[in-house]
Amino acid sequence: MITKEEKRQKQKQGMLENVMRQFNNASDRMGLDPDIRKILRITNNELLVHFPVKMDNGNVEVFTGYRVQHNNALGPYKGGLRYHPTVDLDAARALAMWMTWKTSLAGLPLGGAKGGIQIDPSHYSTAELERITRRFTFALGDNIGPELDIPAPDVNTNAQTMAWILDTYMSTKSPNERSTNLHVVTGKPVGAGGSEGRDRATGYGVYLCIKFWAEHNNINLKGRKFIVQGFGNVGYWASFFLEKEGAVLTAVQDVSGSIFNSGGIEVEKLERYMARHDRKIAGFPGVEVIDNDAFFALDCDICIPAALGNQITEKNAGAIKALVIAEGANGPTDIQAENMLLDRGVAIIPDILCNSGGVIGSYFEWLQNRNGEIWQLEEVTAKLRKKLRESFGRVMKVMEERNVDMRTAAFIIAIERLEQAYRQRGIFP
Ligand code: NAD
Repeated sequence: MITKEEKRQKQKQGMLENVMRQFNNASDRMGLDPDIRKILRITNNELLVHFPVKMDNGNVEVFTGYRVQHNNALGPYKGGLRYHPTVDLDAARALAMWMTWKTSLAGLPLGGAKGGIQIDPSHYSTAELERITRRFTFALGDNIGPELDIPAPDVNTNAQTMAWILDTYMSTKSPNERSTNLHVVTGKPVGAGGSEGRDRATGYGVYLCIKFWAEHNNINLKGRKFIVQGFGNVGYWASFFLEKEGAVLTAVQDVSGSIFNSGGIEVEKLERYMARHDRKIAGFPGVEVIDNDAFFALDCDICIPAALGNQITEKNAGAIKALVIAEGANGPTDIQAENMLLDRGVAIIPDILCNSGGVIGSYFEWLQNRNGEIWQLEEVTAKLRKKLRESFGRVMKVMEERNVDMRTAAFIIAIERLEQAYRQRGIFP
């Protein structure tokens, strides 16, 4: 029997292995310059910090935080902060690399980074989480910054977390610098300098990618069944827009279990329930509770993994019935599972395209803060849709031209842009 700790360990190692294999595969296919390959296969900077925080009961606990900056050839480092027990150097390395490919694919002037704290936030009060976040920000010091490295929300962090980071970061600056530092984080609450539409940007992007894929394959989404693993920021908003399109949510899995209703689960009803129940789906009425292991084998058309990495593996891939897997999460499908699924003709919209709406939305927030502008929701939505349509079109074109799968096509586009930057600039000295 595998222990919880062994499972976590495997998941973390798997992510780095996964992203490296994806990178190597695409690099081989495109014949990437060997010197540039040496640069891109490794991270630029890796920061590990230990910091003490006073708990509500007066005791002191010491926490471990990470920030890995993979590459900034195209612009400042950009990527989320995750609060989860699986966060460590390898996990942050893998996630930072995916950010580099994602920002490059989206054509943004940004690089890739990721980090977080190795913590189960459900064990701490809101006041403790605020002190942990503020002290982590202080420990990161000038290793983050609006023109250097810009964090954003990820698993178990949200707009409130970003507001605490912003406030702490600003408090350490001289008075005349404070108001020019709003763009040190994105994904802030709108009232604290955030952008309209950033909250929904990732899930909206997941929905758009599914819609573009369906249009490309002459599929009508009305009445199509979809299942979602992870009903947080990404899973909820993707479900919200898919339901509006007429698709039917039939199953959800989160950290508290799995629920199923062949007749459909109302997205807003579930969201309202979760708001009253510690953001968990357990106990939601009118559904069948199913075994977690049965989740991915459910009958459906669209499967959206929107929780953690390495959830679709050779153990469950063979039973997947969906026509398409839309990767809301980063790295949810491991390489063995991917090969099995592609062999069976299941389409996979890869994470670096599928969930790139989030970083595109973050880029819009960063631009607004930097330029002293405030855009309306309609403007943000229209710009996001345009950018994602272009990305999706580019991926489909390379996929067809080079006869590769969607992920390899997305990686080739991302890596080619970085290769060009290095070729044109050369290597100092
Ligand atoms: P979140 O914290 O808002 O939600 C995470 C969800 O996953 C929760 O419903 C939680 O219960 C569930 N979950 C956690 N552990 C689980 C497990 N072992 N099994 C099943 N469900 C589990 O996080 P989020 O921001 O929605 O991020 C989800 C995924 O999307 C992550 O992989 C993240 O890296 C990726 N992502 C997020 C953004 C963003 O803007 N938030 C952008 C791009 C990619």
